[in-house]
Amino acid sequence: MSTDPAASEPTIFQKILDGDVPADIVYEDEQCIAFHDVNPQAPTHILVIPRKPIPTVDDISPDDEALVGHLFRVASKVAEREGLDNGYRTVINCGDDGQQTVYHLHVHVLGGRSLQWPPG
Ligand code: C5P
Repeated sequence: MSTDPAASEPTIFQKILDGDVPADIVYEDEQCIAFHDVNPQAPTHILVIPRKPIPTVDDISPDDEALVGHLFRVASKVAEREGLDNGYRTVINCGDDGQQTVYHLHVHVLGGRSLQWPPG
C-alpha cells in the first residue's frame, strides 16, 4: 500500500520531528532521530525514524536506499548504546495487516529479553 503524505494530517512522528510533541530522544543526526516508544513491548523499545516523511516501506524510492540503510546502521548503534549485547530485533510494520499504526516509516528496535518467534 502507499499513502500520499501531502494529502493527510501530520503524523504524530512528524509532530515529534517538528518539536510539537515531546519524545525521549536518544539519538539524532541530519537524517533521522531515535526515541523510546511510549508503549514499550520489551524492556528496551526504541523507534528509529527518518526526518523525511516516508509513509510506508512501499513508499521507499530508489533515492531513499542510502537513507534506509542508514536507519539500520543507527538501529545497531542505538542497540549497542542501550547495552543489547545479547541481540535484539528490528521490525518494520507495513500497512493494515502489518499492524502499522503510524504512517511515517520507523524501525522498531526491541530487546532486553529473549524474544518469541514467530510474532503473532
Ligand atoms: O509499527 P507501528 O506503526 O504500529 O508503531 C507505532 C509505534 O509508535 C507504536 O509502538 C507506538 O507505541 C509508538 N508511539 C510512540 N509515541 C507516540 C505514538 C506512538 O512511541 N506518541
